[in-house]
Amino acid sequence: MHEMERRAAIEAVVEASSLGAAVQSNLLSTGAVNKEDRSPVTVADFGVQALISDMLATSFPDVPLVSEEDSELLRNPDNENLKDLVVAYVRRYRPTLTKESEIFKAIDRGKAQGGGLGRFWALDPIDGTKGFLRGGQYVVALALIEEGQVTLGVMGCPNLPLHSLQKKDYLGCVFAAVKGEGSYCRGFDEPEEIKISVSSLSDPADALFCESFEPSHSSHDQVAHILELLGAKRPPLRMDSQGKYGLLARGEGTVYLRLPTRESYEEKIWDHAAGTIIVEEAGGRVTDLRGKPLDFSRGRTLNNNKGIVATNGLLHERVLQAVKAVSTGNALRHSAQSAGKSRG
Ligand code: AMP
Ligand code: MG
Repeated sequence: MHEMERRAAIEAVVEASSLGAAVQSNLLSTGAVNKEDRSPVTVADFGVQALISDMLATSFPDVPLVSEEDSELLRNPDNENLKDLVVAYVRRYRPTLTKESEIFKAIDRGKAQGGGLGRFWALDPIDGTKGFLRGGQYVVALALIEEGQVTLGVMGCPNLPLHSLQKKDYLGCVFAAVKGEGSYCRGFDEPEEIKISVSSLSDPADALFCESFEPSHSSHDQVAHILELLGAKRPPLRMDSQGKYGLLARGEGTVYLRLPTRESYEEKIWDHAAGTIIVEEAGGRVTDLRGKPLDFSRGRTLNNNKGIVATNGLLHERVLQAVKAVSTGNALRHSAQSAGKSRG
């Protein structure tokens, strides 16, 4: 099932990851553009989105795309240099895109709204932009969502070692999963795929917990508290991007927690669609903080869910309990503090 979609998605992600890697090494190392103003990641974001959108439009003209960027910034004459860089990178990979207007059009296909009906692609062109700018981990993440369910996920991780984080001899891997067909991993230039599965650890003491590098994306304090409650001995692994889902799927990481730092934040579907199916098809489980499955039928965000708990499955209920204990404790502390304040 989905053989054509799988092949096309892998091809698009592999090619776009190579564009991302070229931007990361050329622009960051040569200092051609200013790292502080985020322009390298902007070039890569737009370039990857244009490339993948155009490739998908050729094979699947009727399937809409939900993606992060639109072309407004590039159309602004003040950003001509940025636009020229994007156009040059895209043409390197798609020489047929001769007109700028075609590149803008490809980018703007990503404005679809998603939802629970029909099928659409969800794309994060560069997930982990902070990691990209640090010269570290980032991911090109593409998923197919049908009737609100993720049915296919592909992640290109150009800087992730293929075999393990400890063995850096071969950098770069591609994860792919189709619903009901398992999860696989391969190198960028090695078409041979390896079937992967989550870890069989059932004792949290030895579990490796993964979390965002950025403390504003997930509460490091709460994760530390959860580790303490569960008696987990290993320090948490901090990493940018959906590569964290990849680590779980191949059994290297055991748990991935994403604990909201502010109540109003809605997770974006493109930040989790590909990663979720890759973990689930490798035998793991992904829910929100309350144990509810992620609901991809709500549009561009997961507005029916709060936070993310991904595990190898065996540890899921215990981790959920600890998350609940910590968030209730925090809520209680919070209300005690505000009661104290209002009394004072
Ligand atoms: P990570 O690399 O795992 O920290 O996740 C990167 C993603 O975090 C980006 O693609 C953003 O969409 C998302 N993000 C941005 N702000 C927040 C926030 N306040 N809370 C959670 N995620 C966020
Ligand atoms: Mg992202």
